[in-house]
Amino acid sequence: MMQQYLALKEQAGGSLLFYRMGDFFELFFDDAREAANILDIALTTRGEHSGEPVPMCGVPVHSAEGYLARLIKAGQRVAIAEQVETPDEAKARAKAEGKPSSKVLVQRDIVRFVTAGTLTEEALLNPRRANLLASLAEVRGQVGVASCDISTGAMVLEECAPDMLGAALARIGATEIVVPEDWPHGPDEVTFHTRGDFASDAGSDRLKAIHGVATLDGFGDFSRTMMAAAGGLIAYLDHVGRGSLPLLLPPVVRASASGMEMDEATRASLEILETQRGGRSGSLIATLDRCTTGAGSRLLAEDLAAPLLQESAINDRLDLVEFWRARPIERSDLRETLRALPDIGRALGRIVAGRGSPRDLGQIRDGLAEAVRIHESILCETDRPRLLDALLPALTGHGALIDHLDRALVEAPPTERANGGFIADGYDASLDELREISGNARRAIAAMEAKYRDQTGIASLKIKHNGVLGYFIEVPSRHADALMEAESGFTHRQTMKGAVRFNSLSLHEEASRISEAGGRAVAAEEAHFEELIGEVAAVREAIARTASALARIDVATGNAERAAEGDWTRPEITGDSAIAIKGGRHPVVEAALAKEGDRFVANDCSLSSDDRLWLIGGPNMGGKSTFLRQNALIVLMAQSGCFVPADSATIGIVDRLFSRVGASDNLARGRSTFMVEMVETAAILAQASERSFVILDEVGRGTSTYDGLALAWAVVEAVHSRIACRCLFATHYHELARLAESCEALSLHHVRAREWKGDLVLLHELAQGPADRSYGLAVAKLAGVPDAVVKRASQVLAKLEEARTETGGIAAGLGELPLFAASMQQSDPEATPERKLADRLSQTDIDALSPREALELLYDLKREI
Ligand code: ADP
Repeated sequence: MMQQYLALKEQAGGSLLFYRMGDFFELFFDDAREAANILDIALTTRGEHSGEPVPMCGVPVHSAEGYLARLIKAGQRVAIAEQVETPDEAKARAKAEGKPSSKVLVQRDIVRFVTAGTLTEEALLNPRRANLLASLAEVRGQVGVASCDISTGAMVLEECAPDMLGAALARIGATEIVVPEDWPHGPDEVTFHTRGDFASDAGSDRLKAIHGVATLDGFGDFSRTMMAAAGGLIAYLDHVGRGSLPLLLPPVVRASASGMEMDEATRASLEILETQRGGRSGSLIATLDRCTTGAGSRLLAEDLAAPLLQESAINDRLDLVEFWRARPIERSDLRETLRALPDIGRALGRIVAGRGSPRDLGQIRDGLAEAVRIHESILCETDRPRLLDALLPALTGHGALIDHLDRALVEAPPTERANGGFIADGYDASLDELREISGNARRAIAAMEAKYRDQTGIASLKIKHNGVLGYFIEVPSRHADALMEAESGFTHRQTMKGAVRFNSLSLHEEASRISEAGGRAVAAEEAHFEELIGEVAAVREAIARTASALARIDVATGNAERAAEGDWTRPEITGDSAIAIKGGRHPVVEAALAKEGDRFVANDCSLSSDDRLWLIGGPNMGGKSTFLRQNALIVLMAQSGCFVPADSATIGIVDRLFSRVGASDNLARGRSTFMVEMVETAAILAQASERSFVILDEVGRGTSTYDGLALAWAVVEAVHSRIACRCLFATHYHELARLAESCEALSLHHVRAREWKGDLVLLHELAQGPADRSYGLAVAKLAGVPDAVVKRASQVLAKLEEARTETGGIAAGLGELPLFAASMQQSDPEATPERKLADRLSQTDIDALSPREALELLYDLKREI
């Protein structure tokens, strides 16, 4: 056994090996130590290996899922080694091989690997979150990213430059990322797979084979880079499933720049899908999500993770929300129907992966039937928006399949299929007959019990059944003697404490009838099951389309519900570069305040090309961060196709959204915070375009006052003059106000506060103009700093302010600085634009450029003049 175990362990590589022994999965050696530790279960020993006792722990097969879930969550991978023959088969094999049967070992094989990105088990998946596996490959300096949700089969291919990989991965949010062994780029946590499998020709061959097509052109325009990533992904799935592939739908290309880009830091600081502390509660999606189905919540998460860029596509979604916003009664009926809808996407995933159950078939049947009813109810509506009409055909067309499943299955099929009982009566005459036979035999056995009681005079005689003996007759010990007689017609089977068990010829006959008919019935059901599975799998793409149409409808009705609840408004989407929000609110903060019975103060924000950078001052706790974030969230929600928490909102489409929070707000992340802040700020300066929207919160705070002010000053200038994008910049450096003199599209704002009878009152209201003072001491008092300390601080402050008035303070002399653009030129007197163009051109190796790079270079050069 040890030999077999060690050979399997070798195949399992770095995965924990679950070694099946009867009703348990056993783990040995280090695997056992590791698992016992994570699962908090007993570590024992079994036998010896090389003279040492072998550490062991085990989990029961029937509850293995829960243990698997915990191991995966703890970052482990698990290889499942099953018994692939029965003990009887093993004995027969031994006999054929001429070995003594006592020496044979049941053959075992690793049947699959369970990893974070390749789960399909309902119990291991969060119904409201997609579970994505991604794979990366690099071809000629471009990175291909293939991602798929194997619980539903959705697969997306895309390509990006290596420096944009972080943003792409942040958007995708995969739970597992597979890369070739010598992968040179991030991220840190990856799964390595054989390099040779990340090949574009292998990738396209596999995809063609899976989808039975001669060319992939019908699915989209795929680059070799994307195919290489797809190749790696499929090879990895193949490896993990030991040769059986999960459901994969035709791949979809995600064009670069098809959605609003946000990097990881932005996503984290806006707390879109989860908060910075981790967890959904308190995130944007948690306040937004009114979906009634898991698939709807998953789609909403996708929408929010990848807001759109095209006006028409955004308006299509908004039309759908508006449609249901205007029909509260229909909306509530529809939501009621959707609530009962099974998760057909995931049921389909399990079925195609070969792990489907009769219950999954039942879910497909019920879901598809529900889709037809939803189709009918929507058809009754007039003035249907375009997107809704486009979704309608996907809701129907499964008539024959629904009808077949309806006839074939019982109303509530079980998850377990080994015992049969899921095929409906009347579907198969021969199955009915087998059931009749065993039914009759069962009745005969019931009658037999009465007859034997009569015959023996033992009123407590019972006929029972268990898994080991089958049917048997049981009497209390004190009555057993009579039945022990040879001529009684009973044969002894087992003596228990207090009872003795017997068999009889007629019981044996009826029991064999039941078991034979039962066996044949189970086999017949099994055959029907396979046939039904095949029928469902054959139309998997159409079923997947139905599932996603239902999810889209759920998202739209959910968004309409949320909009109605919060009195939200439809944003107007435009192609220019203005943002005009009236009465904007922060959805999460507003909801939190409402719980305490507090009111959120709405604020306006209006940025345009000649007033595009707002510098916002005012006391701590005054509402600066909240204001910054609420505007970023409103833009993000609008471009995702949601209504927004404002009285009105006009959003000029934003290509990239950046959000940065000054270092000290970020302390919890425990990194060299100022460094992180600067790295993130550098990324904005490198990546933001004129169409971007940037919010910067107290940038420069993580270092000394002089350094911080200097950096904040330079960053504001660069954002204003070089990038010229829309930006909200919150700061407590009063000195920055002087930038208003030199930056024509910058304006000053502050959050209002008032001192009233010596106490600070924060109004959370945004007003024009610079902050008059910082109220730092008042905030300290508010926070409970002892009076004596506050008093002393005000003496110190008075002295400092006196000195400032005399010398001009730390910003003394800044007024004489040349303008940002001018200073850049000054630093190198030779660097006229012409000179720079000539330099760049002469340094360019034209042969090494792809046509696309050449085009980009041209754009670049044009920007420089
Ligand atoms: P700052 O960034 O100026 O230090 P925050 O934005 O963090 O301030 O706001 C501090 C607290 O004030 C928030 O947690 C919230 O409870 C409250 N607050 C912020 N903005 C508003 C508002 N517009 N209306 C009501 N309360 C607000």
